[in-house]
Amino acid sequence: MPVTNITLNAQTVIMKDRKILAGNWKMNLLQSEARALVDSILQEMTPNAPPMILFTPSLYLAGAVDQIGGHPGIQIGGQHCYQGKFGAFTGEISAVMLRSCGVQAVLAGHSERRQYFGDSDMAIAGRLPDILAAGLHVIYCCGESLEVRQSGEHIGYVLGQIADALFGIDPNLMSNISIAYEPIWAIGTGLTASPEQAQEMHLQIRSSIQAHFGFEISESTSILYGGSANASNAAELFSQPDIDGGLIGGASLKSDSFLMILDALSKSR
Ligand code: PEP
Repeated sequence: MPVTNITLNAQTVIMKDRKILAGNWKMNLLQSEARALVDSILQEMTPNAPPMILFTPSLYLAGAVDQIGGHPGIQIGGQHCYQGKFGAFTGEISAVMLRSCGVQAVLAGHSERRQYFGDSDMAIAGRLPDILAAGLHVIYCCGESLEVRQSGEHIGYVLGQIADALFGIDPNLMSNISIAYEPIWAIGTGLTASPEQAQEMHLQIRSSIQAHFGFEISESTSILYGGSANASNAAELFSQPDIDGGLIGGASLKSDSFLMILDALSKSR
Protein backbone atom coordinates (compact mmCIF):
# COMPACT_ATOMS: atom_id res chain seq x y z
CA MET A 1 0.00 0.00 0.00
CA PRO A 2 1.36 3.48 -0.80
CA VAL A 3 2.46 5.70 2.07
CA THR A 4 -0.40 8.05 1.54
CA ASN A 5 -3.73 7.65 -0.09
CA ILE A 6 -4.77 11.24 0.21
CA THR A 7 -4.21 13.70 -2.60
CA LEU A 8 -5.09 17.33 -2.76
CA ASN A 9 -6.34 17.82 -6.27
CA ALA A 10 -6.48 21.59 -6.78
CA GLN A 11 -9.11 22.27 -4.15
CA THR A 12 -10.78 18.97 -3.60
CA VAL A 13 -9.64 16.36 -1.13
CA ILE A 14 -9.77 12.87 -2.60
CA MET A 15 -9.39 9.71 -0.56
CA LYS A 16 -7.98 7.05 -2.85
CA ASP A 17 -8.06 4.10 -0.53
CA ARG A 18 -11.06 2.44 1.08
CA LYS A 19 -9.24 2.04 4.38
CA ILE A 20 -9.64 5.07 6.63
CA LEU A 21 -9.39 5.53 10.38
CA ALA A 22 -11.21 8.56 11.75
CA GLY A 23 -11.23 9.89 15.30
CA ASN A 24 -14.20 11.92 16.51
CA TRP A 25 -13.12 13.86 19.56
CA LYS A 26 -16.61 15.32 20.11
CA MET A 27 -16.62 18.02 22.87
CA ASN A 28 -13.56 16.66 24.64
CA LEU A 29 -10.00 17.73 25.53
CA LEU A 30 -8.54 21.07 26.58
CA GLN A 31 -6.36 22.78 24.00
CA SER A 32 -3.13 21.61 25.66
CA GLU A 33 -4.44 18.02 25.75
CA ALA A 34 -5.46 18.20 22.10
CA ARG A 35 -1.97 19.40 21.15
CA ALA A 36 -0.37 16.63 23.19
CA LEU A 37 -2.58 14.02 21.52
CA VAL A 38 -1.64 15.20 18.02
CA ASP A 39 2.03 15.27 19.06
CA SER A 40 1.91 11.66 20.25
CA ILE A 41 0.12 10.53 17.11
CA LEU A 42 2.74 12.27 14.95
CA GLN A 43 5.58 10.69 16.91
CA GLU A 44 4.20 7.18 17.25
CA MET A 45 2.26 6.42 14.07
CA THR A 46 3.98 4.02 11.74
CA PRO A 47 4.85 4.97 8.19
CA ASN A 48 2.61 3.33 5.57
CA ALA A 49 -0.38 3.46 7.92
CA PRO A 50 -3.83 3.86 6.34
CA PRO A 51 -5.04 7.46 6.07
CA MET A 52 -6.29 9.04 9.26
CA ILE A 53 -8.75 11.87 9.82
CA LEU A 54 -8.94 13.68 13.17
CA PHE A 55 -12.29 15.41 13.76
CA THR A 56 -11.35 17.97 16.38
CA PRO A 57 -13.54 20.54 18.13
CA SER A 58 -13.99 23.57 15.83
CA LEU A 59 -11.89 25.83 18.02
CA TYR A 60 -8.83 23.59 17.61
CA LEU A 61 -9.07 23.00 13.87
CA ALA A 62 -6.70 25.69 12.62
CA GLY A 63 -4.12 24.82 15.29
CA ALA A 64 -4.30 21.13 14.42
CA VAL A 65 -3.84 21.91 10.72
CA ASP A 66 -0.69 23.88 11.58
CA GLN A 67 0.53 21.18 13.92
CA ILE A 68 0.33 18.34 11.41
CA GLY A 69 2.21 20.57 8.97
CA GLY A 70 0.90 18.92 5.80
CA HIS A 71 1.59 15.36 6.99
CA PRO A 72 0.51 13.23 4.02
CA GLY A 73 -1.22 10.55 6.12
CA ILE A 74 -3.34 12.79 8.36
CA GLN A 75 -6.25 15.06 7.59
CA ILE A 76 -7.99 17.40 9.99
CA GLY A 77 -11.78 17.40 9.85
CA GLY A 78 -14.64 19.44 11.27
CA GLN A 79 -17.40 17.71 13.24
CA HIS A 80 -20.12 19.86 11.73
CA CYS A 81 -20.81 22.75 9.39
CA TYR A 82 -23.87 24.73 8.41
CA GLN A 83 -25.27 25.24 4.91
CA GLY A 84 -24.32 28.12 2.62
CA LYS A 85 -21.11 30.14 2.65
CA PHE A 86 -21.63 33.21 4.85
CA GLY A 87 -24.50 34.87 6.65
CA ALA A 88 -26.22 35.90 9.85
CA PHE A 89 -26.05 32.52 11.58
CA THR A 90 -24.51 33.23 14.96
CA GLY A 91 -22.29 30.45 16.21
CA GLU A 92 -22.15 28.54 12.95
CA ILE A 93 -19.32 27.82 10.54
CA SER A 94 -19.55 26.98 6.85
CA ALA A 95 -17.76 24.51 4.61
CA VAL A 96 -15.81 27.25 2.81
CA MET A 97 -14.67 28.64 6.17
CA LEU A 98 -13.41 25.18 7.17
CA ARG A 99 -11.61 24.80 3.85
CA SER A 100 -10.04 28.26 4.18
CA CYS A 101 -8.37 27.05 7.40
CA GLY A 102 -6.85 24.01 5.69
CA VAL A 103 -9.49 21.62 7.00
CA GLN A 104 -9.97 18.73 4.58
CA ALA A 105 -13.00 16.77 5.78
CA VAL A 106 -16.25 17.13 7.67
CA LEU A 107 -18.78 14.84 9.34
CA ALA A 108 -22.41 15.08 8.27
CA GLY A 109 -25.36 13.48 9.98
CA HIS A 110 -23.70 12.25 13.16
CA SER A 111 -26.45 10.87 15.40
CA GLU A 112 -25.54 13.27 18.22
CA ARG A 113 -26.14 16.21 15.83
CA ARG A 114 -29.42 14.63 14.77
CA GLN A 115 -30.49 13.96 18.37
CA TYR A 116 -29.38 17.12 20.21
CA PHE A 117 -29.25 19.77 17.50
CA GLY A 118 -32.20 18.83 15.32
CA ASP A 119 -30.27 17.92 12.16
CA SER A 120 -32.90 16.37 9.90
CA ASP A 121 -32.27 14.16 6.87
CA MET A 122 -33.44 17.07 4.72
CA ALA A 123 -31.11 19.59 6.38
CA ILE A 124 -28.16 17.21 6.00
CA ALA A 125 -28.95 16.49 2.35
CA GLY A 126 -29.32 20.25 1.80
CA ARG A 127 -25.83 21.04 3.02
CA LEU A 128 -23.97 18.25 1.20
CA PRO A 129 -23.74 20.24 -2.07
CA ASP A 130 -22.14 23.17 -0.19
CA ILE A 131 -19.66 20.82 1.48
CA LEU A 132 -18.73 19.14 -1.79
CA ALA A 133 -18.51 22.47 -3.63
CA ALA A 134 -16.04 23.65 -0.98
CA GLY A 135 -13.85 20.64 -1.79
CA LEU A 136 -14.18 18.85 1.54
CA HIS A 137 -14.34 15.10 1.96
CA VAL A 138 -17.56 14.09 3.75
CA ILE A 139 -18.12 11.22 6.12
CA TYR A 140 -21.88 10.76 6.06
CA CYS A 141 -23.12 9.03 9.23
CA CYS A 142 -26.15 6.79 9.36
CA GLY A 143 -27.49 4.23 11.81
CA GLU A 144 -30.57 3.02 13.60
CA SER A 145 -31.78 3.37 17.19
CA LEU A 146 -32.23 0.37 19.46
CA GLU A 147 -35.97 0.63 18.97
CA VAL A 148 -35.64 0.40 15.19
CA ARG A 149 -33.20 -2.54 15.46
CA GLN A 150 -35.54 -4.40 17.81
CA SER A 151 -38.43 -3.82 15.41
CA GLY A 152 -36.43 -5.63 12.70
CA GLU A 153 -36.71 -2.60 10.38
CA HIS A 154 -33.06 -1.54 10.72
CA ILE A 155 -31.90 -2.36 7.20
CA GLY A 156 -34.72 -0.51 5.50
CA TYR A 157 -34.25 2.41 7.89
CA VAL A 158 -30.53 2.82 7.19
CA LEU A 159 -30.94 2.33 3.45
CA GLY A 160 -33.59 5.07 3.59
CA GLN A 161 -31.04 7.40 5.22
CA ILE A 162 -28.53 6.57 2.47
CA ALA A 163 -31.06 7.16 -0.30
CA ASP A 164 -32.34 10.44 1.17
CA ALA A 165 -28.91 11.98 1.63
CA LEU A 166 -26.83 10.52 -1.19
CA PHE A 167 -28.92 9.52 -4.17
CA GLY A 168 -29.22 13.12 -5.36
CA ILE A 169 -25.42 13.52 -5.47
CA ASP A 170 -23.64 13.85 -8.80
CA PRO A 171 -21.92 10.45 -9.30
CA ASN A 172 -18.68 12.29 -10.13
CA LEU A 173 -18.63 13.63 -6.58
CA MET A 174 -19.12 10.27 -4.87
CA SER A 175 -15.33 9.88 -4.60
CA ASN A 176 -15.52 12.68 -2.02
CA ILE A 177 -17.99 10.82 0.18
CA SER A 178 -17.41 8.07 2.71
CA ILE A 179 -20.12 6.50 4.83
CA ALA A 180 -20.01 5.64 8.53
CA TYR A 181 -22.51 3.07 9.76
CA GLU A 182 -22.99 3.88 13.43
CA PRO A 183 -25.80 2.06 15.21
CA ILE A 184 -26.99 4.60 17.79
CA TRP A 185 -27.31 1.89 20.43
CA ALA A 186 -23.57 1.24 20.13
CA ILE A 187 -22.27 4.83 20.26
CA GLY A 188 -20.58 5.57 23.56
CA THR A 189 -22.43 2.70 25.26
CA GLY A 190 -19.76 0.00 25.31
CA LEU A 191 -22.13 -2.17 23.24
CA THR A 192 -20.55 -2.94 19.88
CA ALA A 193 -22.37 -4.38 16.89
CA SER A 194 -21.02 -7.88 16.32
CA PRO A 195 -18.77 -8.21 13.27
CA GLU A 196 -21.61 -10.16 11.60
CA GLN A 197 -24.23 -7.50 12.38
CA ALA A 198 -21.94 -4.76 11.11
CA GLN A 199 -20.93 -6.71 7.98
CA GLU A 200 -24.57 -7.43 7.15
CA MET A 201 -25.40 -3.72 7.20
CA HIS A 202 -22.24 -2.66 5.38
CA LEU A 203 -22.97 -5.12 2.59
CA GLN A 204 -26.52 -3.81 2.31
CA ILE A 205 -25.23 -0.25 2.12
CA ARG A 206 -22.66 -1.16 -0.54
CA SER A 207 -25.30 -3.03 -2.54
CA SER A 208 -27.62 -0.03 -2.46
CA ILE A 209 -24.77 2.22 -3.64
CA GLN A 210 -24.10 -0.29 -6.43
CA ALA A 211 -27.76 -0.41 -7.45
CA HIS A 212 -27.90 3.39 -7.68
CA PHE A 213 -24.39 4.44 -8.78
CA GLY A 214 -22.93 1.26 -10.27
CA PHE A 215 -20.23 -1.25 -9.38
CA GLU A 216 -17.16 0.99 -9.73
CA ILE A 217 -18.45 3.63 -7.32
CA SER A 218 -19.72 1.06 -4.83
CA GLU A 219 -16.36 -0.70 -4.82
CA SER A 220 -14.43 2.50 -4.20
CA THR A 221 -16.71 3.89 -1.47
CA SER A 222 -15.33 3.59 2.06
CA ILE A 223 -17.86 2.31 4.57
CA LEU A 224 -16.60 2.76 8.13
CA TYR A 225 -18.01 1.25 11.30
CA GLY A 226 -18.58 3.36 14.42
CA GLY A 227 -19.95 2.41 17.83
CA SER A 228 -17.72 1.52 20.80
CA ALA A 229 -14.96 0.23 18.54
CA ASN A 230 -11.74 -0.12 20.50
CA ALA A 231 -8.31 -1.75 20.51
CA SER A 232 -9.79 -5.11 21.57
CA ASN A 233 -12.56 -5.47 19.00
CA ALA A 234 -11.14 -3.55 16.03
CA ALA A 235 -9.27 -6.43 14.37
CA GLU A 236 -12.36 -8.63 14.23
CA LEU A 237 -14.51 -5.82 12.87
CA PHE A 238 -11.91 -4.88 10.24
CA SER A 239 -11.60 -8.50 9.10
CA GLN A 240 -15.07 -8.25 7.56
CA PRO A 241 -14.96 -7.70 3.81
CA ASP A 242 -17.18 -4.61 3.71
CA ILE A 243 -15.84 -2.84 6.81
CA ASP A 244 -13.22 -0.43 5.51
CA GLY A 245 -12.21 1.24 8.74
CA GLY A 246 -13.65 3.00 11.71
CA LEU A 247 -15.08 6.22 13.07
CA ILE A 248 -13.86 6.10 16.63
CA GLY A 249 -15.12 8.25 19.51
CA GLY A 250 -13.92 7.41 23.03
CA ALA A 251 -10.96 5.28 21.96
CA SER A 252 -9.61 8.11 19.76
CA LEU A 253 -8.91 10.33 22.77
CA LYS A 254 -5.74 8.47 23.75
CA SER A 255 -2.94 7.93 21.26
CA ASP A 256 -2.14 4.39 22.44
CA SER A 257 -5.67 3.01 21.89
CA PHE A 258 -6.16 4.97 18.66
CA LEU A 259 -2.85 3.79 17.23
CA MET A 260 -3.59 0.19 18.21
CA ILE A 261 -6.81 0.48 16.21
CA LEU A 262 -4.81 1.98 13.32
CA ASP A 263 -2.44 -0.97 13.54
CA ALA A 264 -5.38 -3.40 13.40
CA LEU A 265 -6.62 -1.63 10.28
CA SER A 266 -3.16 -1.77 8.68
CA LYS A 267 -3.04 -5.53 9.23
CA SER A 268 -6.60 -6.23 8.10
CA ARG A 269 -7.25 -8.28 4.96
C1 PEP B 1 -18.73 8.31 17.43
O1 PEP B 1 -18.70 9.32 18.09
O2 PEP B 1 -18.96 8.41 16.24
C2 PEP B 1 -18.50 7.02 18.09
C3 PEP B 1 -18.54 5.94 17.37
O3 PEP B 1 -18.24 7.04 19.45
P1 PEP B 1 -17.74 5.79 20.35
O4 PEP B 1 -16.59 5.16 19.61
O5 PEP B 1 -17.32 6.43 21.63
O6 PEP B 1 -18.90 4.85 20.49
